Amino acid sequence: MGRERRRLLVANWKMHFVRAQALEYLKVFTERVQGISNTEIVLAPPFTLLETVRREIQGTAIKLAAQDLFYERKGAFTGEISAIMLKDLGCAYVIVGHSERRRLFGETDELISKKLRAALDAEITPILCVGETLEERRAGRTQRVLETQIRGALAGLALSENLVIAYEPVWAIGTGVNAEPEEAEASALFIRELVAQLFDTEIAQKIRILYGGSVKPANFEGFVRQPNIDGALVGGASLDPEAFAQMVKIAECC
Ligand code: PEP
Repeated sequence: MGRERRRLLVANWKMHFVRAQALEYLKVFTERVQGISNTEIVLAPPFTLLETVRREIQGTAIKLAAQDLFYERKGAFTGEISAIMLKDLGCAYVIVGHSERRRLFGETDELISKKLRAALDAEITPILCVGETLEERRAGRTQRVLETQIRGALAGLALSENLVIAYEPVWAIGTGVNAEPEEAEASALFIRELVAQLFDTEIAQKIRILYGGSVKPANFEGFVRQPNIDGALVGGASLDPEAFAQMVKIAECC
């Protein structure tokens, strides 16, 4: 069943790059990934680069994602960006509930749920990030944490296959210490079974589940070969166009 889902690689640039750097990156990257057809490629630049990236990837199969959104449609919310604005800029995806937003900006499952609904209403596919901290892992609470985060985020939503879930153990993000592929697969399977329980088996089999956390070309194949892992959300290594293109090629051929 796993191979029926299209593989997906998402580059989370986080708060990196100004326009000249993005253009330089895209010159290299678009050249390297020419001819890629089985793997879906998504770039998530900061808000300030969405338009620049959109223009450069026009006519290619590369898609655009935002790193966050606000749940209201419009109004007096200084500094915030709505799903409608992202849709207008051509975003097909939006990352929601990244652990950095949960930890540094106090995002709760309730807030994340509102953001998911706003994205779905605007027909933008949310990439919901979930994952346990090191303390939670050591206490053997990984599955309980994943269940709380997913139940909280998906509460009351009418779901289709229009959702991506990224399993991102917090202790693996930006640390250089990745989860073992088998360990990530166990969490991905747990997530899929939970989605089946909350919605239905068909939706659970269709949604894509990514692994994220210190993925790089040298370890990526181990993840993408797992039956329930459909690709990766990549932070640090996605800032190098050669490295990110290498991962796309691995996803395409293995
Ligand atoms: C991320 O930010 O989602 C991430 C997985 O980062 P990194 O690849 O740097 O661990």
